[in-house]
Amino acid sequence: MKNVIELIVVQEYERLLPAVSDFCGCDLCREDVLVYALNRLTPQYVTQPTGEILTGVAMQGDQAHADVAVVLLDGFRRVRANPRPGHESRK
Ligand SMILES: [Zn+2]
Repeated sequence: MKNVIELIVVQEYERLLPAVSDFCGCDLCREDVLVYALNRLTPQYVTQPTGEILTGVAMQGDQAHADVAVVLLDGFRRVRANPRPGHESRK
């Protein structure tokens, strides 16, 4: 079982990361942003994420990606403003 929204969130995270200025991007900050987004998006479960399903999601997709991007950007801002203690800054 796989939540395809999670796949989109990870894709979008990688795509948006370079555009977010001053974001740390260490593993803890990455995880915090992904968790933040996933907790606010409705999951869509599939039994097997085949290429066909992923293409379907991608097509359905511009809207799904736009929704995910909005939530992710909110997550980036929150984690940047308040990173987890002990996260390893890359600066
Ligand atoms: Zn960090």
